[in-house]
Amino acid sequence: MNQFRLRAITNLHCNCNCQFCYQKRKEVAVLPLENLRNAVAGRRFARASVMGGETLLLKNAEEYVRIAADAAATVGLTTNGVLMDPVRAKGLAKAGVQELAVSVPSFAMYREITGADLHKTLANLEAARRYIPNVRVNITQNMYNMQAACGTPEIYLMIREVLQTGVGVVICEDITAGFEMDFPRYLDGAKLAKNEFGFETWEIEGYTFGFFHGADNYDGTDLIVTPVGNFDTWKGYCDAVGCEMR
Ligand code: SF4
Repeated sequence: MNQFRLRAITNLHCNCNCQFCYQKRKEVAVLPLENLRNAVAGRRFARASVMGGETLLLKNAEEYVRIAADAAATVGLTTNGVLMDPVRAKGLAKAGVQELAVSVPSFAMYREITGADLHKTLANLEAARRYIPNVRVNITQNMYNMQAACGTPEIYLMIREVLQTGVGVVICEDITAGFEMDFPRYLDGAKLAKNEFGFETWEIEGYTFGFFHGADNYDGTDLIVTPVGNFDTWKGYCDAVGCEMR
């Protein structure tokens, strides 16, 4: 059976504790490799996303990537980037990671939100680009970056700042809150495209970035394999890990 996307949630625990995290359960729970192997046996996916919790807390993260790479045309890893270093980036690339998404919820409030050091995370991201050229920053809408600083909410300033460094950007909705994006109001740009899942591509000042929203648009097209069971809707997974979608 062909499906759009495999989401392999390798573990629930995380070295950050972001207040807006959709995944409220943070106990040490790890997806057995065998469960992932069994779930994808005989299936093909257009994409696979390997994610946590924080996948890089697992010494054998590469093994999850290898299984995903055998089943999917494109494999991405989503990480907070705190534990990324060149050795790991090289190993992950060799295992099959083609895209790296580093979650950065705010520049101004990064330490308060995550407890980590922004400069270190950005340096890790930069080092990883040597081995995984397709690197992007995932910016999740949240109560900090949606606040206006000098008239413009930080999230719009972040988009421009990151894009100017040559790194990609995807804006991810906060599924627990009701924030609305208004790109044309704050950025000089326009929507270029919207796919069948509602994923939008925007252009500003010659750069393109993505806007991922409407997680339930993917219902039935995803296989979500996690330490707490397998799901075909994001809501099913959220219910299992204590998140209330709005
Ligand atoms: S880094 Fe991601 S998984 Fe970890 S607490 Fe923050 S939002 Fe949740």
